[in-house]
Amino acid sequence: MQNPFDLTGRVAVVTGANTGIGQGIALALAAAGADIAAVGRSPAQETVEKARALGRRAEIISADLSTIEPVDRIVDEAVEKLGGLDILVNNAGIIRRNDSLDFTEEDWDAVVDTNLKSVFFLCQAAARKMIPQGRGKIINIASMLTFQGGIRVPSYTASKSGIGGITKLLANEWAAKGINVNAIAPGYIATNNTAALQADAARNRSILERIPAARWGSPDDMGGAAVFLASSASDYVQGHILAVDGGWLAR
Ligand code: NDP
Repeated sequence: MQNPFDLTGRVAVVTGANTGIGQGIALALAAAGADIAAVGRSPAQETVEKARALGRRAEIISADLSTIEPVDRIVDEAVEKLGGLDILVNNAGIIRRNDSLDFTEEDWDAVVDTNLKSVFFLCQAAARKMIPQGRGKIINIASMLTFQGGIRVPSYTASKSGIGGITKLLANEWAAKGINVNAIAPGYIATNNTAALQADAARNRSILERIPAARWGSPDDMGGAAVFLASSASDYVQGHILAVDGGWLAR
């Protein structure tokens, strides 16, 4: 029997691949056999070098996803440099914190444009390539705030609950065309994004007390879920939001 998690010969575009969860996912996909197009504002040099050390082809694609301007070019460059597009991981994301009473339009637009609008239009650009080939895997990075309200992060909560919605909608529209659209909802993952929370001893303690697994997740913890959703092992999984959260939502 063939290994259902084998990604040999597949090309994966991963946004925000230079650090954190995006880097963890890119390297897990590379370890499973995929070639990697590492997309981001900062060049994902380390990610590309590590993927190449695993014997994969890997290329940097420079793009700022605060607007949708680069989405078609990202797909074109992946196809040009690596010969195809089989997997898209929409990971790039930002967060802005403030009380809802004081929240500004700038902080709303910056987060929603990057975390939701660019994700939708990159899904669209990728699907225009994937649908004619009758095959493709799209993985959107959601959050616990896809399911919960959170506090002082209104645009982030809107963007991540929106990710849940468009993941299901696009699965509805594209499942019969051979495209799987799913999401991963990470719990508390130790990255630059959460460095301030980790450094705050009181916050850190209360977070750890609330996580059944009693530890922060790592970018590597996201990798296995991504390989599953990128591989033929998940061919009948559609519109699913897979929490990888150490049990946070089970509590
Ligand atoms: P990091 O801050 O460590 O990394 C964010 C990544 O997104 C970076 O590669 C960054 O690139 C990229 N990025 C941000 N803005 C843009 C942009 N305009 N254009 C292109 N790339 C951009 O965050 P994490 O690894 O923690 O988060 C990754 C994803 O996971 C995000 O969507 C986040 O919301 C989500 N998530 C994270 C959780 C956590 O606990 N860490 C929990 C739940 C969800 P650059 O370095 O160049 O800015």
